[in-house]
Amino acid sequence: MTLSAHAFAGLEPQKPDALLALIAQYRADPRADKIDVGVGVYRTETGETPVMRAVKDAEAALLSGQDSKSYLGAEGDQRFAQLIWQLISGKEQLGAHCFGLQTPGGTGALRVGAELLARARPDARVWIGEPTWPNHAPIFREAGLQVRTHAYLDASGGHIDFDAVISALTEAASGDVLLLHGCCHNPTGTQFSGEQWMALSDLCNRRGLVPFIDLAYQGLGDGMDEDAQGARRMLAAVPDALLAYSCDKNFAVYRDRVGALFVQSGTEQSLELARGNALTIARSLWSMPPDHGAAVVRTILDDPALRTVWENELAGMRDRLQAVRQGLAAAHPLLTSVATQRGLFSLLPLSVEAVAAVRRTHGIYMPADGRINLAGLNQANLGRFVPGVLPHLLARDTSIFQSAKSQELSA
Ligand code: PMP
Repeated sequence: MTLSAHAFAGLEPQKPDALLALIAQYRADPRADKIDVGVGVYRTETGETPVMRAVKDAEAALLSGQDSKSYLGAEGDQRFAQLIWQLISGKEQLGAHCFGLQTPGGTGALRVGAELLARARPDARVWIGEPTWPNHAPIFREAGLQVRTHAYLDASGGHIDFDAVISALTEAASGDVLLLHGCCHNPTGTQFSGEQWMALSDLCNRRGLVPFIDLAYQGLGDGMDEDAQGARRMLAAVPDALLAYSCDKNFAVYRDRVGALFVQSGTEQSLELARGNALTIARSLWSMPPDHGAAVVRTILDDPALRTVWENELAGMRDRLQAVRQGLAAAHPLLTSVATQRGLFSLLPLSVEAVAAVRRTHGIYMPADGRINLAGLNQANLGRFVPGVLPHLLARDTSIFQSAKSQELSA
């Protein structure tokens, strides 16, 4: 036996990606009326995830007009970063206290940011409200940082328990990092109010916490400006902050991997240090980010006509998500919180067994945590979805009620 046969023998087996397994299961299901509320992509009323018109037009313009594919550098397309900064901040220029670099998706931005923090503050703990996007904790852990989870939702599962968030964070120490979803929380659809963002920024200032905002769904909640309000408030209030941006949902360019990392720091000197280190990290991860998707987004945002086409398409996506939310909320009082939430997702309080039963009996596919993608629902399937999940929600509701009751009795 050669040495190379043993090269990987010491590795720990890894769990396959649960969502990819769910996709495969859904595809193999022969039932014509099956419903996919699992995968996290936008879908039209007829179930497609199309390339946006604005993207097609920008790609055509790039195809005929692009005259070089020469290297750009580890910072990627800087005009793209500036345009994204305008979407986030509402300001024309990246100020003296902020820099941006293009990354492969929001994931790439989170990873460079995590590596940067690990270099700057190796002992920092990253505080993340549970539940969250399952990739958050691994990204920070892989960068060598410790992750601490904190309470986030109330007992109903439909709203933020803000007092619990604040009280959990009293354990955070100066220099720790606070990860915040900028809008349209994945998986719950919840969002902090303006006052809550102000309270969080006060907390960061008082306790010396560094906010790291993950803005992956701008424009899919209430509007481009509206969805940036929290990030704007936070960035205006604190000296140091990071923001990971994804264009993959709001431009529907998922596999093209389009994102950016923005870093803000109170002094020119610390900003320069952060920039130099972020570029070194990016160079060792991917040398330079892939150009195409960012060039498409840049082309759209730089062209007033294309930009209007994109804004209208995005508004159509947002309106459809809102309409599905209203429809679901109107179907039963147990679902009313869905209408108060925003973005693609909502978390139904279903047990793992109930999720499996709903899949078996009704062909309704969602991940084990009960997250649903609202865009998987439409006029044609809503009438089948609600009766499929409702008995389980009712049973769950009764058991919550009963356990509360029995506690009351035993107290
Ligand atoms: N953050 C959150 C909360 C997300 O849901 C996602 C995508 N699922 C990302 C970041 C990463 O986005 P991207 O596909 O651009 O890497």
